Amino acid sequence: MNLQLAYRDAYARSVEGRIVAVHEAADGHGPLVVLDRTVFYPGGGGQPADRGTLLRTADGRSWRVGAARKQDGDIVHELEAPADTALEPPQVGDLVTADLEWGRRYALMRTHTALHALCGVVWRDYGAQVTGGNMEPGSGRMDFEFERMSGDLVDEIEAKVNAELRSARDVKVNVLPREEAFAIPDLIRTKINLLPPGIAEVRTIEIVGLDLQADGGTHVANTREVGGIRVTGYESKGRINKRIRMELVDPDVAARLSRRRIRR
Ligand SMILES: [Zn+2]
Repeated sequence: MNLQLAYRDAYARSVEGRIVAVHEAADGHGPLVVLDRTVFYPGGGGQPADRGTLLRTADGRSWRVGAARKQDGDIVHELEAPADTALEPPQVGDLVTADLEWGRRYALMRTHTALHALCGVVWRDYGAQVTGGNMEPGSGRMDFEFERMSGDLVDEIEAKVNAELRSARDVKVNVLPREEAFAIPDLIRTKINLLPPGIAEVRTIEIVGLDLQADGGTHVANTREVGGIRVTGYESKGRINKRIRMELVDPDVAARLSRRRIRR
């Protein structure tokens, strides 16, 4: 298995590695490149895969990576068709720098952490479980089993999430043995019991004092980095299932938002 740095260090933006496999383009997909190490996140848990470039050390040629994904335990990089059609894909043995489109990734890290803060508040104060979620850089949505959700409650939730983000909570990544993870009551609500039996370790993301979830994504190190959120919409997906949509905003915008909504 290749070395997958995103899970250990979300802030690693680039790494030099050696190409260990190149699979031919097929079914409308570009060639797939496997490195012995990478900083790319392959997508999962509602967080889209990274984009970026591979830059060959020997001659400075570069290839756009349109997506990454997990395949047989490895993270593979899918190359986009080059503008210069004469440009061949890189070769096995080439040394390349894998470089993330960092602005996009960092926005995804902030968004992902904001969504966990939202889950944490909704669980702590309303006892509602999350059932799913999805995100783009800067915005996302979460679904809850939350029968009594209303417009007033959503305003209150927004203000509470912004207060949590402002309080500069650390965000920690831990890898626990499966048995230890199962002993944590908070993890049960995120349906950890759906993990396949073969998995010996569980990676968790903890917003210290607020939220703990089994999670494979990339997050910021402190909620201060998120800034603030604005709830952009909510809808019923049935009697019990409700969806909340949010986007990232600057902290001062979030502060004005809560003052206005509290006065209303
Ligand atoms: Zn997550």
